[in-house]
Amino acid sequence: MAKTILTGDRPTGKLHIGHYVGSLRRRVELQNSGEFDKIFIMIADAQALTDNFENPEKVRQNIIEVALDYLSVGLDPKVSTLFIQSQIPELTELSFYYMNLVTVSRLQRNPTVKSEIQMRNFEASIPVGFFTYPISQAADITLFKGNVVPVGEDQEPMIEQTREIVRKFNSVYNTDVLVEPEILLPDNKACLRLPGTDGKAKMSKSLGNCIYLSDPEEEVRKKVMSMYTDPTHLKVSDPGHLEGNTVFTYLDAFCKPEHFAEYLPDYENLDELKAHYQRGGLGDVKVKKFLFAVMQEELSPIRARRAEWEKDIPAVYEILQKGCEDARAVGQQTLAEVKDAMKINYFSDAELIRAQQEKYNA
Ligand code: ATP
Ligand code: MG
Repeated sequence: MAKTILTGDRPTGKLHIGHYVGSLRRRVELQNSGEFDKIFIMIADAQALTDNFENPEKVRQNIIEVALDYLSVGLDPKVSTLFIQSQIPELTELSFYYMNLVTVSRLQRNPTVKSEIQMRNFEASIPVGFFTYPISQAADITLFKGNVVPVGEDQEPMIEQTREIVRKFNSVYNTDVLVEPEILLPDNKACLRLPGTDGKAKMSKSLGNCIYLSDPEEEVRKKVMSMYTDPTHLKVSDPGHLEGNTVFTYLDAFCKPEHFAEYLPDYENLDELKAHYQRGGLGDVKVKKFLFAVMQEELSPIRARRAEWEKDIPAVYEILQKGCEDARAVGQQTLAEVKDAMKINYFSDAELIRAQQEKYNA
C-alpha cells in the first residue's frame, strides 16, 4: 500500500514553536527520508472559519503566513503538495456523506471538541460547523488516503474518530476504498504538547503565549528571558523544581548533547544541568541564556529562509495554486470511488440502466 502523509494547520495565526516541535519538524524529517509516496500538507481555512466565520479577513491574511512558515522550516513544494482546504470541494462533499455515519452523542464525547468549546465560551451557541469539524477532518485525511498523520497529542481523538468513520464506511458499503490512518506523535515527550511561555498547558495562538517561528531574534530573547520557571526558586541557592518548569521543558524539546560543549561547557549534558538546578546554586538567568542559544541555533536558519521567500510572495501563491490543482486531482479520484461504493453513480453504471429498462419490459 502507498505510504501517504496528510496533515495541516489552521490559518488562524503564524505558526509557533509548539507547531514546530509537535508536527512541522517531523514532517520535514519524513519528507527528507524519501520513504513516502505522497505528502499532502493542508492549510485548513474552512476549518478555521468554523470558529472564525465572522472574521474571514483574519483567515485570508494568515494563509500566506502559514505558507511562508511551511517553506521556511524546509517543506519542499517539489516533494510535498501544499494546498488550501477550501479549494477542494470534494472535501465538503465527502464530509456530507460521513455525517450519516456519526452520531451527535459521539461528537459530544470527543474530548478535544469538548475542551475547545469550553475555551471559546460557546456554551449553548455552538455553531454546527464547529461541532462537526472532526467529521470534516476525517474527510481531509481520507480523501487523500493518508495513512500517516504526524500531529500533536491534542489531535489523538480526531484520528480515533477518523478510524471509526473509515471502519463504519467500509463495513456499511462493503468496500475497502477508505484507508485507516495512524497517528504519528513526537517520540519526545516534551513535544507532545509544548506549554506556553506563561507555563499554561498548551502553547496556542488563541492563548497569546507563543514564540513564533517568525519572531525576530530580539523578540525571542525577550520572551525566553521572561519565561515562567519555578515560582519557589527565589534565590540562586534555593533548590529548584523541574516539574512544570517551562524552561526545562523547552530544553527537553530543543537541546542536543553537543550544545553543551558549544554554549555551556561546565556541564556534560542536560541531566547534569537538571541535577544542579534541583540541588540549588544554579540561577534561572543562566539556564535561560543557554536555552536562548540553543533555540537560536534551530530558529535562525528558519528565519533566514523565510526572509528569502518573503521577497517573492507571488511565487508562494503560485506554489499553493499548483498544490490545490494536484490535490484536487487526487481528491476527485477518491470521491469517484466513494460514490461507486455508495451506489450514487447513476450515469456511469450501464448495468443499472439496463436493469431498470428490464423492469418495465417485463
Ligand atoms: P488554534 O488555537 O487556532 O486551534 P493551534 O495553535 O491549536 O491553533 P492548530 O492549527 O490547531 O494550532 O494545530 C496544528 C498542529 O500543531 C496540530 O498537529 C497540533 O497538534 C499541533 N500543535 C498545536 N499546538 C501545539 C503544541 N503546543 N504542542 C505540540 N503540538 C501542537
Ligand atoms: Mg488547535
